[in-house]
Amino acid sequence: MNMELLVATHNIHKKEEIQQILGNDFTVKSLTDYNIHEEIVEDGDSFNANALIKAKYCFEKTGIPSLGDDSGLAVEALDGRPGIFSARYAGDHDFAKNMEKVLGELEGEDNRKAYFITVLCYYDENGARYFEGRVHGNILTENKGHKGFGYDPIFVPQGYDRTFAEMNPDDKNKISHRKQALDLFLDFLKVKD
Ligand code: IMP
Repeated sequence: MNMELLVATHNIHKKEEIQQILGNDFTVKSLTDYNIHEEIVEDGDSFNANALIKAKYCFEKTGIPSLGDDSGLAVEALDGRPGIFSARYAGDHDFAKNMEKVLGELEGEDNRKAYFITVLCYYDENGARYFEGRVHGNILTENKGHKGFGYDPIFVPQGYDRTFAEMNPDDKNKISHRKQALDLFLDFLKVKD
């Protein structure tokens, strides 16, 4: 069987990453493939709410089973911040400023525990289903490494001694929050067949 899946993103890298993980049984499409160019307003108050907004919008526009995702970093000593505001904590998609703000807020703090989280929402004619992945770790006191994106240079996953930004993408993608959520989604699709 081959199933078409619309991913609520304009980002070709996100689309390709998901296509690669899901494999040939799926044809992954992006919003751009459907000539939908508007930005979806993500004004939910949780990761689930934002993932739902994106997936539902896509399904209602096209009738194609759709996947919405929302990710971020939650720091224990900051009561879960930056959380849903991860992309724009200090400046819109300004990764350096966002990291600087987190490091500043954690100055002198011994509890460095944090986790990355991804929530996927799959939406079809039966409504919404959610899949969540988390990777736990610690926040350093300074940046290390240049790979990846976002908060990768300040995050060391549990059981490792390098930041996500020092790891090869393949190694990060084996343990990442996104990979864990996508694996759960894959399990769901297999059971559904
Ligand atoms: P999005 O929902 O995938 O667009 O992610 C929102 C924000 O969370 C990004 O702009 C990053 O700041 C942060 N983030 C999500 N996933 C990661 C990751 O794997 N590494 C570093 N930062 C991430």
